[in-house]
Amino acid sequence: MERRFRSRYGRMAVMRAALLVFVLAGALIGAVVFTLDLNARRSNHQQAATELASMARVSASTFSTMRANLRARVGELAASAPLQQAVLERNTARLRSIARSHNALIVLHGHAVGTLPAEPRIAATATMASGGRVVARVTVAVQMDRSLLAVLASATPMPKHAALVLVQHGRVIAGGPVGARAETGHHRIELGSVAFEARAAKLGVAGTSVMALEPVSAVDARVNDYRRKLLFAAALTLALAAGLATRIARPVARVLGDIARLTRQAQTDGMTNLANRRALDERLDLEVDHARRLGTHVGFVIADIDNFKSINDRYGHQTGDEVLRAVARVFADAVRELDLPGRYGGEEIAVVLPGTNLAGARNTAERIRKLVDDLRVTSSDGELVRVTASFGAACFPTHETVEGLVSAADESLYEAKRTGKNRVVTATAKKKSASRSVGDAPAPA
Ligand code: GH3
Ligand code: MG
Ligand code: MG
Repeated sequence: MERRFRSRYGRMAVMRAALLVFVLAGALIGAVVFTLDLNARRSNHQQAATELASMARVSASTFSTMRANLRARVGELAASAPLQQAVLERNTARLRSIARSHNALIVLHGHAVGTLPAEPRIAATATMASGGRVVARVTVAVQMDRSLLAVLASATPMPKHAALVLVQHGRVIAGGPVGARAETGHHRIELGSVAFEARAAKLGVAGTSVMALEPVSAVDARVNDYRRKLLFAAALTLALAAGLATRIARPVARVLGDIARLTRQAQTDGMTNLANRRALDERLDLEVDHARRLGTHVGFVIADIDNFKSINDRYGHQTGDEVLRAVARVFADAVRELDLPGRYGGEEIAVVLPGTNLAGARNTAERIRKLVDDLRVTSSDGELVRVTASFGAACFPTHETVEGLVSAADESLYEAKRTGKNRVVTATAKKKSASRSVGDAPAPA
């Protein structure tokens, strides 16, 4: 039964250790994956932004080249012989044909011939003079529409899902849902119900910009492959950690168990199983410290077995030890969970009573005194041994230091011995007083 319990306890400790190693490894891997993923997404968005900004810049520069070409074209047209001749001859039919073939508007002596493409558009105008006088004005224009965008796009390297739109005064004029809001200052815009990363460049035409767009989902999808590999690596590492955890769980459990046992041993008196002197001192320091900060009490009781030497002499040391252990058990059973009973010296047992004033400490001591008085221990010869103890009780903050508290309890104990034994004496601030006299010192039964 005992062995089965032990082995089950051992297995549980091993499993706990394995779980601990695994959870720690898991948390570490999780943190690493999270950080790598976050960095990847950040740098991916930065990269997309850089690409989009450069797309917009390249498109804008292609656009200025187109405008320069337009100006050159209208200059060439104005200087061309057929147009000059038609103007000289005021040949309206000829002018109309030239205007149509060049998408031009020719104004001759106030009369307009031809039409320009609809707005929005870019235009260039040249004048024709004769004898120092302007006789005609010729204008060519290109509409700012899909076909213009197609020219811009063909000259611009673009990622797969990216696109260009033309924007004028915060509205799309070509390349997207015409009229939709598209603020060029924003780096994220929504067109329809799709969110885009966006970067814009000005075109040098009032309020007009070209905007390079890529759906946010497409930008995010760029790191999908990286993410898949990262998760795969994490899962693999986690599996290795699980393997490792089960491997090292046993030694870890043993070490943890040893640490717990050694810690317990360092605090325990081997003979009585109560706390030892060191643990008592530490706990008393701690509780007095707390009480000083919180303004509460700490009770301290010291007991010493009466005429213990005679018990040893009469029944032998083994029985003496048995009596000491039995008295220790009485202490352990009689106090609250938060109190600390411990072996203070040879046959002296003390109790730290947190949050307990002098009256409380005296009551506790009195209760234990009676229980000890009622105790009967069977000697190695089968005789019933009667045992009594004397008690000194004191309390913080009536005694303000740990040393003062201990010596007050000690002096009270001494007084209990002096005034007849098997009694409790409490230490008041000025003078100590016997709480109660309870019969004579017992003779061994
Ligand atoms: P008093 O009532 O004044 O306390 O008398 P006493 O005989 O108890 O006190 P004294 O200090 O003269 O003797 C204490 C004895 O307790 C001496 C020592 O041998 C014995 N003792 C101390 N520790 C142990 C122990 O662990 N086991 C046993 N069997 N005896 C112990
Ligand atoms: Mg004694
Ligand atoms: Mg003693």
